[in-house]
Amino acid sequence: CGVFGVVGVSSAANFTALGLHALQHRGQEAGGIVVHDPEQGFNSERRFGYVRDTFTSQDVMDRLPGPIGIGHVRYSTSGSKGATAIRDVQPFFGEFAMGGAAIAHNGNITNADALRRELIQSGSIFQSSSDSECIIHLMARSLQRNIPERMKDALRRVEGAFSIVAMTRTKLIGVRDPLGVRPLVLGRVDPEEDGGWCLASETCALDIIGATFVREIEPGEMVVISDAGVTSHRPFDPRKSRFCIFEHVYFSRPDSILGGRSVYETREAIGRELAKEAPVEADLVCPVPDSGTPAAIGYSLESGIPYAMGIIRNQYVGRTFIEPSESIRNMGVRLKLNVNRALIRGKRVILVDDSVVRGTTSRKIKEMILDAGAAEVHFRIASPPTAWPCFYGVDTPQREKLLAATMTAEEMRAHLGVDSLRFITLDGLYRAVGEAGGRDDASPQYCDACFSGDYPVSPSDQITNGFQL
Ligand code: SF4
Ligand code: MG
Repeated sequence: CGVFGVVGVSSAANFTALGLHALQHRGQEAGGIVVHDPEQGFNSERRFGYVRDTFTSQDVMDRLPGPIGIGHVRYSTSGSKGATAIRDVQPFFGEFAMGGAAIAHNGNITNADALRRELIQSGSIFQSSSDSECIIHLMARSLQRNIPERMKDALRRVEGAFSIVAMTRTKLIGVRDPLGVRPLVLGRVDPEEDGGWCLASETCALDIIGATFVREIEPGEMVVISDAGVTSHRPFDPRKSRFCIFEHVYFSRPDSILGGRSVYETREAIGRELAKEAPVEADLVCPVPDSGTPAAIGYSLESGIPYAMGIIRNQYVGRTFIEPSESIRNMGVRLKLNVNRALIRGKRVILVDDSVVRGTTSRKIKEMILDAGAAEVHFRIASPPTAWPCFYGVDTPQREKLLAATMTAEEMRAHLGVDSLRFITLDGLYRAVGEAGGRDDASPQYCDACFSGDYPVSPSDQITNGFQL
């Protein structure tokens, strides 16, 4: 999911809609905005679909006045059952002592089932099936005398991954969990234009509103922003951070800056590393667009094999894995990707993609490429085999559905029907994201659980439901 918030501007909703539009790649099912206006109080709108279709109509935006607001773009993760209902669309808002608050959450709370049971037993009335709603109830029950303190109280009970943007009537709050699994950045809105501050999942959402990047919110940090400026708090015991390494590979937008480096540059470095680890003689390097593109460019630069657009993407379709059902996903590949036949015929082709999850995409693409008359097909994958589900906010299917959970590398190659299949190694991936010495196995620098099975936060609800580590 993607989160955004802004304070101290003339129309918070306009900025928020733009920010969410830039974060649309993080969630395409639905979006929501909550604002507060001194005269009209809190107002919210939640909608299915793309921001560009839902938060552009004048009557919707007219219902969202005020100088402070937050927003969320959603895609449902492993915690949620079935299709999203509108009541599950964030931000969540609740009125309680001290005037109430709204929150937007990216990540996943790993003890949400247990918390929810406890809260319901003691009288909380839930409005949604979302894990994130627990935070509002925990805040409402806290005995602290102001909302930031109540939020700290609440978050100390929550386990898992959370980058949160929240608001009171006058304050914007941003928090990252102690491991800093999901990103969150602070920006300054151009003082010439409007002034004010904003928070966003990624820097591409600052660019779109002309805000300047100030810094990342640090793992375990809470910032409280008001007219008086930004204050920083440390609600949690310090821990070594474990940022999601898959943000570098796939999730973030290539024009965003993560850890001081552009995601594009990192992905190109991943491609170069892959070319060193897994070279092969061929005529063309082709990306599986768009997610494989920067890595394919890196592979081509390192290997000297020409880069070519062997597969053309229809720009009017979203990300494949967002589609909730298998049949739609199967269809989806053809709706979205087509082979550039004239280019491919008779060629030995290296196809570069970011990841193999179920193998649906790779299988379809291989068929299409062979139909077009390719002489050989070699898959090169910019992440290690995905053998474990993510419980921290990325939608991977159950373990049994992951190709790499049940097959060896050679079995996967045979299943996909390609001439060769190679994944970047975990160490190679660490080197490419900037850890020259590779992965520190005693104390890994990143979360890489979907590749290693090493879960930095115990997925306790999942274990209760029978998941085996
Ligand atoms: Fe990221 Fe994978 Fe960890 Fe999930 S399990 S947070 S996708 S590295
Ligand atoms: Mg892809």
